[in-house]
Amino acid sequence: MQNIIAVIGAGTMGSGIAQAAASSGFNVKLIDVSQDALHRGMDTITESIALLVKKTHLTQVAGDAVSARIQRSSDLLYAANADVVIEAVFEDESIKREAWKNLSSICKESALFASNTSGISITRLAGAVKHPERFIGMHFFNPVAAMKLVEIVRGNRTSDATSQAAHELAQALGKVPLEARDYPGFVVNRVLLPMINEAAFAVFEGLASAEAVDQMLKLGANHPMGPLALADFIGLDVCLAVLENLQRGFGDDKYRPCPLLRQMVDAGKLGRKKGEGFFKYPVVVTK
Ligand code: NAD
Repeated sequence: MQNIIAVIGAGTMGSGIAQAAASSGFNVKLIDVSQDALHRGMDTITESIALLVKKTHLTQVAGDAVSARIQRSSDLLYAANADVVIEAVFEDESIKREAWKNLSSICKESALFASNTSGISITRLAGAVKHPERFIGMHFFNPVAAMKLVEIVRGNRTSDATSQAAHELAQALGKVPLEARDYPGFVVNRVLLPMINEAAFAVFEGLASAEAVDQMLKLGANHPMGPLALADFIGLDVCLAVLENLQRGFGDDKYRPCPLLRQMVDAGKLGRKKGEGFFKYPVVVTK
């Protein structure tokens, strides 16, 4: 039985995955190179649990137990006794490969290795570890607590046993696992990001304001959230990285990132997590 899950990266996704794992009874080691990120991640989890206590049948005692199952550290060695390692560091292939190379020499031989990449090749990432047959993509969606899907992506050398374990783990976390093949962006982001990019082009080319573009998609296409608010929610740096990966991976300029998106990332306007993207948000205060 997998009992200890190490989550590497305590940002938007890592904190969400850690909370989902602890809520399902796993002991979690939340690891990030940045102490600030660990504080922010834990604050996000605490706020989310407090909301669940207020709005659902979750009791205070059960909520406290979820928090108590999450230990945090800035030291990768903390992952040494984990049965499962889920990596959610920046969407940058060299950073991910370096993290996996280190984890591969630290972790148990039997550990399941899963990357939450939004579309970087699982086969290439698996090349960084000693046992690529135990490496797989488990692509969660944001916010993790609310989104049911986990895209399961096998690399070229992923074993059947690893795939089976990843499916079972996703189900144990209350998610629905669906398989996608290992091509850039997998399925959801291959469909979603071109739409977000077109919405950014609509603003860039002066067709309409960001507010109007989002209203149009909500009222005209029945989207629950406009594409630009969604981009802010995902993080504009993540959106840019996914588009660049699609463009590079397929050698097709139909995925060319909108220059406005690139400029906003250069300016540090990364969306909700930084207080400003296409829209403004209350400033995030770090302890
Ligand atoms: P984020 O920027 O919010 O967090 C990334 C975290 O990784 C940061 O806290 C950073 O300090 C940490 N980090 C960087 N290098 C590290 C290392 N070597 N060791 C430990 N920690 C390290 O990013 P995010 O939005 O949480 O995305 C993380 C991953 O999840 C990316 O691969 C992204 O593509 C993917 N993803 C994101 C979303 C989304 O909506 N944001 C959805 C699905 C998947």
